[in-house]
Formats: sequence, C-alpha cells, structure tokens
Amino acid sequence: MALMKSWVASANSAKAPFPLNNLPYGVFSVDGGARTCGVAIGDMILDLDAAEMAGLIALDGGPYLDAPNWNDLMAAGVDVWADLRAQITDLLAEGGNMQAPLVAQTDAKMHMPFAVSEFTDFYAGKHHAMNVGTMFRGPENALPPNWLHIPIGYNGRASSVVVSGTDVVRPNGQTRAPDSEMPVFGPSMRLDIELEIGAIVGRPSALGQPLTVAEADEMIFGYVLLNDWSARDIQAWEYQPLGPFQAKAFATSISPWIVTRAALEPFRTTTPAREKELLPYLREPGPMLYDIELSVALQPPGGTATTIACTNYNQMYYSAAQQLAHHASSGCPMSTGDLLGSGTISGPEKSARGSLLELTWGGKEPLTLDCGETRTFIEDGDTITLHGAAQGDGYMIGFGTCSGSINPAPKFPALEN
Ligand code: MN
Repeated sequence: MALMKSWVASANSAKAPFPLNNLPYGVFSVDGGARTCGVAIGDMILDLDAAEMAGLIALDGGPYLDAPNWNDLMAAGVDVWADLRAQITDLLAEGGNMQAPLVAQTDAKMHMPFAVSEFTDFYAGKHHAMNVGTMFRGPENALPPNWLHIPIGYNGRASSVVVSGTDVVRPNGQTRAPDSEMPVFGPSMRLDIELEIGAIVGRPSALGQPLTVAEADEMIFGYVLLNDWSARDIQAWEYQPLGPFQAKAFATSISPWIVTRAALEPFRTTTPAREKELLPYLREPGPMLYDIELSVALQPPGGTATTIACTNYNQMYYSAAQQLAHHASSGCPMSTGDLLGSGTISGPEKSARGSLLELTWGGKEPLTLDCGETRTFIEDGDTITLHGAAQGDGYMIGFGTCSGSINPAPKFPALEN
C-alpha cells in the first residue's frame, strides 16, 4: 500500500493524518448550524449529507447520511460500509469530481460522531495490569487468576462519553485515607487518565446469540482514541468487590473521527504470545490487533505541552474482537453504537505507561514537565491530549487528537460547613 493521491492537495503528504487512504468519519457543524455527517480529507471535510442529496453518493437502502450521527449507516452493515468507502474514494481521488462539497476543518466544530448505546471498559493490557496489580497487591498477586483466560471488564456509563474538546469537571467523591477510620467526601485529589483505543460496534447481535471472534471482528465499524478519566482515590475505596463505579462514571473522552476497520487493514498485527492457551471461543483466526502509535501530552495552564508517554496498541493482550466475542458469549446482545474501551495501553518501558498512576508509580515519582513544573496527578486547568497514528510507507492513518481540560470540582453547599 502506498499513498493514494487525491485532488484535495493537502491530503497528498506523508505527514497528512487524513490522506485518501484514511477517510475517517465524523459529525461537524458550521456557524451553529445542523450536525452533519462528514469525512476528513486533508485539511477539509467532505459534507456527506450534501453529497448524498446531490446524487454524488447513492447507497442501497439510503439515504443514510441525512442524520446527526453515524448510527443508521453503522447499522446498515458491511456491504453498505464498503460501498460508501468505494464511492467516497472515487469522488475524492485524482480525476474525481471536484464539485464535491467541501468545508475547511478550521471552520467546523466537531461533535460526537455516534450516539453511544452502552460503554464497556476492559482491562486487557498486560503491562498495565501488572503495574497496577504490583502497586496494589504486590508482584506475586499482580495478575488475578482469571486474567490470562478472560478479557475482564466492567459495564461503564454511556451518558458521560464526550467528544474531544469538552471540558471535564473534577469529580467529588468518597475517599478514605489509609490511616483513617472514616471516609471523607470532596474533590478527587488523584485524578488520572487512561490511554485507550475505543472500538465501535456497527452491526448488532441478538439476545442469546454468541459470536465467534471472526464474526465479532466483522461487526466492528471503526476505532477512536479514548481517554478513560479515572479518580484513583475514589477507585481505591470503592472498587472491591464489584469494580470501579463513580471513579470512572464522570467522563470518558473520545476523538471525533472514527477510523474505519477498512483503513486499518494494512496495519493488522497479532496479539502477543499466549501464556496460557485460551479456550476455543476466544482464539483468534488471524491477526486482530493493529500497529497504532499512541502518545499522551500534558499541558499546564499557560504552559506548553509535554509528551509524557509513547506506546502502541499492539501491546494489548486481547483484541477488540476477542473482547466483543467474550461480551456476547453469555448471550448478551450487542447494539449498534456500543463502545468498547481497550483498557489502558502500557508498553514494557517506563516511558510507555498509559496512566499517571503508573508513570509516577502511585504518586511517588513525580514527572517533571518541559516548563519545569512537576505533576503526580492532574491539576485543575491541565489539558490532556492523546495522539494516535498508524505509520504506513509514505503515508499515515491519523486518528487526530482526543483532548480535555480539567475544571475545578463543583462546591456542594453541604461541604461548606
Ligand atoms: Mn479504563
């Protein structure tokens, strides 16, 4: 695969995140107007609602794109997905129709690209699970006995999934100091990030219908960057025995562009060697992970951004397809618009850790930012930005960015006594 040339000149560069090879899907508006489905090409957006209305794109069973999100198109299935991608490729390729309706990305405001049906977050990165388990339970008990057999996860909240650029409010919650008998209620003092990839379910499955890993892979419409904001002090007090609750319910940020499974095909890679053989229903028929370079930057208020971690999605122990197959294995139906968080993506090196909890080893080893300030956890006014891209030969498949700034916790009248 090489760089595919477009008549949109800004797309024709090895450094362009959105070349013709990519074609990620989003929802935008201009000047407070209606939310509109679009596809990124170079520094522009092709208005797909206008293109469909003008007859430049015509899909079986359509129109699908006169909608404020991608859910209808996602539910239409793989043949329609492939047809749309082929028609957009023809339209935007060199020699295509230069009358296609384009909007400059700098003039557009991005919105949630799909309506999130439900959000499930996994814990499927082994380096992360080892690091956190070592901190909480010691190296001998770091991995729970189920970990090498099940992609473990919890059912999170869809209601607080927000698009990149949305401010995040520091949560209040209950915490208890190790030497204290009674808990207290107030702002989280150990606010953290989790660098993850989100997989988006396109086609649904029925109640009682299990899925093979191959079927699960075919149901995934695409992927986004995902920051699973986490309040570590609230989590430490509440998490046993049912797992995280309020510590992760307050916000999850995603990047605005859905990078499709089709765009990522050249970057498929295998999961790491199995330490224990998986049960047959979880075995992968082929490479199901992707080689996607990821990084996190922290920018203090008024300061410059410092890259604090660099890692790769290929570090995951379980793929999204395995997670989806496991999710449906009980008969749990999966819906169009379900969002599956990969789990924190940490690599083996210290610089590849995808959370501040790991990077500062529980707050014991502060990070020094380029501006000279130090951080253990996130402070009010800090902005966290995730970056991601698959690097091809002479082109890239960019994910754009997933960014959020922290606002102070709200004051409760009852707290002021
Ligand atoms: Mn998470």
